[in-house]
Amino acid sequence: MPHETLTRSTVASHNTADSLWCIIDHKVYDLSDFLDVHPGGSVVLEQVAGTDATETFYNLHRQEVLEKYSPLCIGVLENEKPEVIVPKPGDLSPVPYAEPLWLRPQFKSPYFNDSHRRLQKAVREFVDTHVTPEAQVKEKDGSYISQELIDRMAREHVLAMRLGPGKHLHGKVLLGGVKGEEFDYLHDLVQTQEFVRSNSRGFQDGNMAGMVISLTAVLQWMENKEIKNRVTEEVLSGKKNICLAITEAFAGSDVAGLRNGTKKWITNGMWCDYFVTGCRTEKGFSVLLISRGEGVETNPIKMSYSAAAGTAFVEFNNVKVPVENLLGVEHDGFIVIMSNFNHERFMMCCAVIRQSRTVVEECLKWCNQRIVFKRKLIEQPAIRQKLAKMVSHVEANQAWLEQIAYQMCSMSYAQQSKLLGGPIGLLKSFATRSAHEIADGAVNIFGGRGLTQTGMGRVVEQFHRTYKFDAILGGTEEILADLGVRQAMKGMPKSML
Ligand SMILES: Cc1cc2nc3c(=O)[nH]c(=O)nc-3n(C[C@H](O)[C@H](O)[C@H](O)COP(=O)(O)OP(=O)(O)OC[C@H]3O[C@@H](n4cnc5c(N)ncnc54)[C@H](O)[C@@H]3O)c2cc1C
Repeated sequence: MPHETLTRSTVASHNTADSLWCIIDHKVYDLSDFLDVHPGGSVVLEQVAGTDATETFYNLHRQEVLEKYSPLCIGVLENEKPEVIVPKPGDLSPVPYAEPLWLRPQFKSPYFNDSHRRLQKAVREFVDTHVTPEAQVKEKDGSYISQELIDRMAREHVLAMRLGPGKHLHGKVLLGGVKGEEFDYLHDLVQTQEFVRSNSRGFQDGNMAGMVISLTAVLQWMENKEIKNRVTEEVLSGKKNICLAITEAFAGSDVAGLRNGTKKWITNGMWCDYFVTGCRTEKGFSVLLISRGEGVETNPIKMSYSAAAGTAFVEFNNVKVPVENLLGVEHDGFIVIMSNFNHERFMMCCAVIRQSRTVVEECLKWCNQRIVFKRKLIEQPAIRQKLAKMVSHVEANQAWLEQIAYQMCSMSYAQQSKLLGGPIGLLKSFATRSAHEIADGAVNIFGGRGLTQTGMGRVVEQFHRTYKFDAILGGTEEILADLGVRQAMKGMPKSML
């Protein structure tokens, strides 16, 4: 924290390489010892020695740079106050369109009540404080999620909450004091969107995505109560890990093409103890819960996002599986696989739409900050056209998403599969097409920084590199668009034929 009150003329007298001070946002920084380690070189610092460098600084840096180097701040200016708002953990962003409409104070929503708002506030604080710092490190170094974070999420029932509403939450008090019994799909939307704010696409999947898409099948389809309760307890307490193993090199979109023996691109597979596995049988398909043990081997697959996701190639070599480990009915596992996809896809819609919004926020801030041809970027009509398009995609998708979540709240699992599989497929397909448009516009707005992994453009660079994960995982754009139309045709009245 600044400890001295200084005048502008005092700062102006420290204008040499040996004693180099400057002003940023009404605070005084002593950069004399920083000259040789400044990533942008010493020359540019010498150019601002003794001056107010606020505009030059914000033309090139994020606010977090000042937070990182706060020990260099030696004082504040007499009778002046900092103007830049520094967000605290849990804060809402004041940038227009940076938050979904229901979180903007001026607007109302028919969907969200006080309990959703309490959850949102508490999850945001949780993510800002406990998830983002670890996510940022692991996204870069590719190491796996810490047991400490898993344990914390287990203690706070965050792991349980991320499976969506259901009996597994009953009797639990969740973040924000929300009772497990009242947790619905709008709460689910809220928590999923908040978790995405750690801006780390690989770690986002590394943070138990495998569990989120597989334990749901155990809860819904495992007949044997002893196994179901034991596995659920082990996983939700953070002692064991579980993932979903459907896809093979031979069978991706065409799930019916499964052959058995190998599984490809299995999220979190590297560290999992249980694999919810789609298998071919003589008369169809079965889904089995397979424990890691003799004959099960996992190897990493290098993806274009962080290795923190633990994406694995899995081999099952003559593995013996007890009969009780069957999910659903033997030879009739297709329904298990297909209906389990619904929640995964809903969750992916929540995530990619929220991530797209963060990119829009980055662009709005940057356009207001960056000066090119002596004007802010936002003063260029061509740039405003791009922003208009990006904002519209995000707002339209969020509105559709909230509408679907609201419908889910009043439907049974079976009704959701029947009536919402198509709309969720269409939304996911459209949301990732929107992400494509948004990534494209955002990189152009950020220029070279949109292609640079550190600094101002890092969120945009990552989004542009990874938004395709949402377009492929959990069902590709083409397949889901097709599913949406095919499901609609099933509802076409006979009289129209
Ligand atoms: C990082 C990552 C993590 C994953 N995690 C998991 C996981 O945890 N568990 C799991 O089981 N799977 C996982 N997957 C697999 C994922 O679900 C599949 O990649 C996806 O379903 C597509 O299958 P495919 O890659 O084999 O593409 P293919 O099926 O080979 O399709 C190739 C392309 O052809 C298009 N196409 C195919 N059929 C048609 C058609 N009829 N009409 C028009 N276009 C068509 C597809 O849209 C796609 O663009 C993961 C994949 C990745 C990349």
